[in-house]
Amino acid sequence: MSNGLIVSISGPSGVGKGTVIEKLREMFPDCRHSVSVTSRAPRGTEQDGVEYYFRTKEEFEDLIEKGEIIEYDQYVGNYYGTPLTPLLKMSRGGQDVLLDLTVPGSLALKEKFDDTVTIFLLPPSMEELRSRLSGRGTETEELVEKRMAQAKGEIEKAIHFDYVVTNREVQQAADEIAAIMKAENCRFRRSRDAVDTLLAQ
Ligand code: 5GP
Repeated sequence: MSNGLIVSISGPSGVGKGTVIEKLREMFPDCRHSVSVTSRAPRGTEQDGVEYYFRTKEEFEDLIEKGEIIEYDQYVGNYYGTPLTPLLKMSRGGQDVLLDLTVPGSLALKEKFDDTVTIFLLPPSMEELRSRLSGRGTETEELVEKRMAQAKGEIEKAIHFDYVVTNREVQQAADEIAAIMKAENCRFRRSRDAVDTLLAQ
């Protein structure tokens, strides 16, 4: 059996990554989600072990030291990281895994596992991104400007990703990512077993 895909999706704040990933989960119920560890506090109904493993900063640093975190980043003053063992277990068990990581997080994971499929989600335009950020109604004008500047810096890194998908509309973006996943599953190196089996008959 070949390993499951490890697909990491990144994009600037406000691009709609969460909604696209939710849509993909509906489309691929067998696709697993890598539950990250974070030092941020749970929000609303979030539960430990479901949305995240919630740990203190000290506990997080301890996990890094023990080599149990394959990649990590800091975002708005908190740690976020991918636990190594569950990721390997799911992928080696043949299950495709979706990850929602910061831009440096996706690039760091690709460095560790060059088989990782990295996808950068783009907004249709900077104007549209600004309007999505303002539309949240939770950000001040100053914060929107800060996020726009940050978004530019992140979009500059898109060149290092395997694929770029523009999120014009949730279903269209999810369909394009689904097409990428189908094509990646047909790569020769992932189909070697099937070829060898045929040749042995
Ligand atoms: P939130 O606090 O809104 O749930 O997530 C904030 C950011 O952290 C999101 O952009 C998400 O992509 C990123 N993130 C979540 N888990 C991880 C992780 O394990 N590693 C990295 N590098 N980023 C993560």
